[in-house]
Amino acid sequence: QAKAAGRNTQRFFDPAMQAAASARAALEADLRQGMARGEIVAYYQPVVDAEGRIRGAEALARWRHPQRGLVLPGEFIAIAEQSSLILELSQQVLEAACAQLVRWAADSATRTLGIAVNVSARTFRQPDFADGVLAALQASGAHPGLLRLELTESMLLGDVEDAIGKMRRLKDHGVGFSLDDFGTGYSSLGYLQRLPLDELKIDRSFVRGLPSNANDAAIVRTILTLARSLGLRAVAEGVETSAQRDFLRAHGCDAFQGYLFGRPVPAEELPVQHP
Ligand code: C2E
Ligand code: MG
Ligand code: MG
Ligand code: MG
Repeated sequence: QAKAAGRNTQRFFDPAMQAAASARAALEADLRQGMARGEIVAYYQPVVDAEGRIRGAEALARWRHPQRGLVLPGEFIAIAEQSSLILELSQQVLEAACAQLVRWAADSATRTLGIAVNVSARTFRQPDFADGVLAALQASGAHPGLLRLELTESMLLGDVEDAIGKMRRLKDHGVGFSLDDFGTGYSSLGYLQRLPLDELKIDRSFVRGLPSNANDAAIVRTILTLARSLGLRAVAEGVETSAQRDFLRAHGCDAFQGYLFGRPVPAEELPVQHP
């Protein structure tokens, strides 16, 4: 490799760096095989309204690894994102979510439930991103108005015009948009206002200290005020206690997600109320 980098370039590899690089390569190869074997599945975490009724779920990728058991996204999304594997992974999760929407649409107890899908930066940057999402919706027969895509602030920073164009195209078909992990990025208020968003998701790092931590309480109140003045719904992530829920509800938060209401589970295990 040192040779390929140029005759005058010297490269020094230390053993720790080499070990890390080969571990990454092994994980990537393992993931590639696992994806081909259908080991990436979608789990669903309930999102509830102020009355505690389930209104939908967030699809969260899980790797059902034959040796390692259930592997969480923290261990494989970044690896997938460094290669084009993330494109296939995004497609698999989107297709799973669409198929789930179609199953729910067949039952009067579940037909209004929506699904939120996380979008990776690399997937969003594809020129045919919007077409791909529309194709998955059409092929499955899922109702676009029940699909919401979760974007993060950092992926919108680059080419704002391009991002707005993709979002508008999908919004014209009824697809909704949330800004995920809100508060951890670098949003300028000016550009927030221009994005065709429906919802802000308050990052769970700010929810954790509620209601006693004064800084977290101030940040959350500010985000809720901001959401209201921009005409956006606010959803809180990582709600684990009823004291957190009560604070959020008292300050106008519209929807809640967190272990208090349910962990991510296979769709069949979601606590869906039947009439
Ligand atoms: P995220 O989109 O912010 O998802 C919320 C994360 O918070 C999930 O972690 C969820 O299990 C966790 N969580 C929810 N409620 C609670 C709670 O009350 N307490 C605590 N401690 N944690 C809670 P998870 O499933 O490990 O996913 C981590 C991240 O991986 C996600 O963060 C998302 O950024 C990414 N991710 C997951 N699935 C996908 C996917 O299909 N595609 C892409 N591109 N990214 C994904
Ligand atoms: Mg999310
Ligand atoms: Mg989030
Ligand atoms: Mg988060």
